[in-house]
Amino acid sequence: MDIPRIFNITESAHRIHNPFTTEKLATLGAALRLKPGARVLDLGSGSGEMLCTWARDYGIFGTGIDMSKLFTEQAKLRAKELGVADRVNFIHGDATGYVIDEKVDVAACVGATWIGGGVAGTIELLTRSLRVGGIILIGEPYWRKLPPTEDIAKGCLATSISEFLLLPELIASFGHLGYDVVEMVLADQDSWDRYEAAKWLTMRNWLEANPDDELAKEIRDQLTSGPERYVTYTREYLGWGVFALMRQ
Ligand code: SAH
Repeated sequence: MDIPRIFNITESAHRIHNPFTTEKLATLGAALRLKPGARVLDLGSGSGEMLCTWARDYGIFGTGIDMSKLFTEQAKLRAKELGVADRVNFIHGDATGYVIDEKVDVAACVGATWIGGGVAGTIELLTRSLRVGGIILIGEPYWRKLPPTEDIAKGCLATSISEFLLLPELIASFGHLGYDVVEMVLADQDSWDRYEAAKWLTMRNWLEANPDDELAKEIRDQLTSGPERYVTYTREYLGWGVFALMRQ
């Protein structure tokens, strides 16, 4: 079981697989006023940076589940590196339908809401692992500016304009689902660069080392067209943020 290999290549050097920086992740952890000993579940935990750094900085206990074998291995290594391997547990697996035995204080899905079939389904799934009065974290894209055409939306690698909402609409949608938005930390264009531009050097290095790989042409095409596509479309039009929600 694994995610498509292309992501394991282009994001192999990322610690955070989202348009967030280390600083923004720390800001989010501080904003949640986590108490030492708080328990956090993370569906689609990637390379584990959120749980590992929050365990180190805020004393939380964490469980992460992720379908990428590589990212899960990296998460375990990171836990050892930060001296928190006894506080965090990373499972390699499909998080679809995953519910934890002992309820948690914070249940998160940061940039992987397809796991629950969209935002509403993911909130419903996370709720099943959450203690009464706990916090749900949802990381999700939104339009910074509405793309004037469907082609521009596709340039952002969205399937259509309707795939994402504007920020006020996204915030309102949480209310319609019965949740208060109690905190948020948003990406900005510089933190988007840390996610997108970091792929370019990784791809370039990988191409040097793997010129005959079956994915070499696809990676070469992404490296050739990616930077201009990104600054023309994604960087201008797509926002991203993590929203902290509590049941009304
Ligand atoms: N939350 C992490 C990773 C976000 S990227 C971070 O912010 O760094 C999306 C992640 O979802 C990837 O790590 C990918 O491997 C994982 N993923 C995709 N489908 C999944 C599934 N069905 N179950 C568990 N993880 C999944």
